[in-house]
Amino acid sequence: MTRISTDILVSGGGVAGLAAAALFGSAGFRVICVDPAPPVTDEAADGADLRTTAFLQPSLKVLREAGLWDRLAPHATELQVMRIVDAGGKTPAPRITRDFNAADVSDLPFGWNLPNWLLRREMVARVAELPNVTFRPGIGTKSVLTRDTEALVTLSDGTRVSARLLVAADGRHSPVREAVGIGARTIRYGQKALAFAVTHPQPHGNVSTEIHRSGGPFTLVPLPDRDGRPCSAIVWMERGPEALRLFAMQEAEFNAEMTARSGAIYGPLTLITRRTLWPIISQIAHRFSAQRTALVAEAAHVVPPIGAQGLNMSLADLRVLLELCRGAPAHIGEAAMLEMYHRRRYPEVAARVTGIDMLNRVSMQGAPAIRDLRAAGIAALYGLPPVRKTLMRAGLGMRLG
Ligand SMILES: Cc1cc2nc3c(=O)[nH]c(=O)nc-3n(C[C@H](O)[C@H](O)[C@H](O)COP(=O)(O)OP(=O)(O)OC[C@H]3O[C@@H](n4cnc5c(N)ncnc54)[C@H](O)[C@@H]3O)c2cc1C
Repeated sequence: MTRISTDILVSGGGVAGLAAAALFGSAGFRVICVDPAPPVTDEAADGADLRTTAFLQPSLKVLREAGLWDRLAPHATELQVMRIVDAGGKTPAPRITRDFNAADVSDLPFGWNLPNWLLRREMVARVAELPNVTFRPGIGTKSVLTRDTEALVTLSDGTRVSARLLVAADGRHSPVREAVGIGARTIRYGQKALAFAVTHPQPHGNVSTEIHRSGGPFTLVPLPDRDGRPCSAIVWMERGPEALRLFAMQEAEFNAEMTARSGAIYGPLTLITRRTLWPIISQIAHRFSAQRTALVAEAAHVVPPIGAQGLNMSLADLRVLLELCRGAPAHIGEAAMLEMYHRRRYPEVAARVTGIDMLNRVSMQGAPAIRDLRAAGIAALYGLPPVRKTLMRAGLGMRLG
């Protein structure tokens, strides 16, 4: 049986796992990345991930270090303004609109939006450039045994890998997390998100808009024009049965319904991709590390898609882990390093999971009195400039204080 050794084994080649492989590979570590599901890198192909990711400012540094930003920048759409709209009145018309302009806190835009299928395409290409990184799509982690000195991983093709550090980037049901005996706390909302792209007659002006009414936010995030028409990605969160109804609806009827839900802010919306459906939960692992193992991304934490936090938190996990590995390359994966990783990430992630859980619960509310309170809350917070700026910095993942 083949037995190979490596510095780092990344289990999972989703967006987070591929980013980890590119980042640690660019830093010179020997990396193997495995995933039983080969990445889908074409928007039109079955199984393409039609979500987009709004990368916030702190993620830019990580993407640069991973050698990814030069590849991604030509496809990215800048997000300059974050617009919050309350449309919780009798009709879905906007009744309170507040703009959070990045210029108030920074010289840079809030973030940059990119389609997930394209991220996979560029990440796979970047990883292929690195001679010290091996990406093995179609092969998964089958079993894990850890001891003081190494993680021994058996892959689905029978290969045995001895890694100094095992990075679990294998998603919300993480088999590695289970294998190393770490539990997780999960909050279910009975809610799903529809993700798809649309065109519309009016330009988005690089404004990302979150519209609150009931069932969860309806968010439009700018994309580059498509066939000469302004284009946006949409994430539409609703309670489960309503989301399923919308998912199954005839296209013309769906176009009319989503235009109404958008308050027609850009005029009539036209669906231009398939609709994809995503279950919404919050989840946090009880610990982010075990012997020779670090949990990152959705293996460690899952949040509802509000404020573009999910993958941005994942890149922050990778930034901290890389900093620790670089600081003590002879001690990669040792207990003290992994304890430090857990301590630096867990409190920050737990605070964000709690904050986003709260925002989601507020956004889901259907009762008119609570919707009125929500509208008043948005106006009040916005009216206090120091609070507004603090919220903006926190949302961006910047350090406060
Ligand atoms: C609708 C929606 C919109 C979002 N928008 C944003 C946004 O704007 N900004 C943002 O920051 N975040 C956003 N997120 C969150 C972001 O999409 C997720 O954080 C991210 O896609 C999760 O990536 P991941 O790599 O952790 O998990 P996954 O994509 O689930 O990848 C896990 C991988 O592990 C693999 N795997 C499973 N078992 C094994 C095994 N045994 N061995 C090896 N590999 C295995 C799987 O095949 C899979 O490819 C959004 C989420 C949703 C639902």
